[in-house]
Amino acid sequence: MTGKKLQIPAPVSGGIFLSYKCSSACQHCLYNCSPQWGGDWISEADATRYLQQLAQSMPASHRRARQVSLNYGVHFTGGEPFLNYPLLLRLVAIAYDLGLAATFVETNCFWCRDDDTTRQRMAALKEAGLAGMLISANPFVVESVPFARIERAARIGREIFGENVIVYQQLFFDLFRAMSLQGTLPFHDFLMRASTSLYQMELLPMGRVSHTLHYLYRKYPASHFAAQSCERELVRDWHIHMDNYGNYIPGYCGGISLGDARDLDALYAGIDLEKRSVLRALLTGMGALLQLGKAYGYEEQKEYVSRCHLCLDVRRHLVQVADFPELRPVEFYARLTDRRTLGEEA
Ligand code: SF4
Ligand code: SF4
Repeated sequence: MTGKKLQIPAPVSGGIFLSYKCSSACQHCLYNCSPQWGGDWISEADATRYLQQLAQSMPASHRRARQVSLNYGVHFTGGEPFLNYPLLLRLVAIAYDLGLAATFVETNCFWCRDDDTTRQRMAALKEAGLAGMLISANPFVVESVPFARIERAARIGREIFGENVIVYQQLFFDLFRAMSLQGTLPFHDFLMRASTSLYQMELLPMGRVSHTLHYLYRKYPASHFAAQSCERELVRDWHIHMDNYGNYIPGYCGGISLGDARDLDALYAGIDLEKRSVLRALLTGMGALLQLGKAYGYEEQKEYVSRCHLCLDVRRHLVQVADFPELRPVEFYARLTDRRTLGEEA
């Protein structure tokens, strides 16, 4: 932060949201995705602009690498990208033409209903230039996606993309296999059968987690987080996101926009904090955010599971009482409580 401006670095890796619409509404979703979101798919023009900018900002070694990893290169995400497969295919081809080789797509595998379709779609994506895939395997995705589809995606994915298939997290994939799971598994059944495995889950206490899974966490009063600033998260240059509404999202901070992702040069020139009181407070500390919230009528809760829970709870209030340009997309806040019916297949 310099004076009243926030300086951000050029991103070295990042994800492009095709939309926030998903076939699932997982309890741990960082971006509050669900089937209830409208299908506001990213335009090809915006996606091309994002990809051009990433091609410029990424080091050549990142751009050209064909090996994929979670925090490397460019990924296509959301929401569930395979809900709009033709668009995904076009964006992969555009990225490839721009020289972006380290690309992968994240999927919950809802669409992997049979071998032929799965193989045909993956092969076409590879042909268009996609380097790899990230396959979600965790206790929340299998609440709505039958595990047989996730297994199929991993098996055929390895046929097509070889080593460039990330199963996230492999631990749960192996666990579901050991259970001989084929269909879906409600989370309360998972807890009955394998709750200790949760200790090994990378479960970030932000987004929908703080609302739906608060009972899994120890809680603290707001004062516990008061001195913690988010400067590091807001200015990080890796695994940032750019969404279908033009928002530049720092890291995993769903519902926060640093500005127009279509014009990164303007963002690099400095983000005017005079007009961004929420960002200003986040850079100062959670105490400052709480004060800002209270100035707008926010009622402090007795306890929170994390600073991100406190942050989201205050923002959720603020977005209802005033217009803060950094709290985007506004629909993110309304989708916090979306849930599919447990056991309902995607
Ligand atoms: S599969 Fe679950 S975690 Fe992934 S985007 Fe959809 S709702 Fe979110
Ligand atoms: S507290 Fe808010 S800004 Fe900070 S990391 Fe969590 S969600 Fe992001």
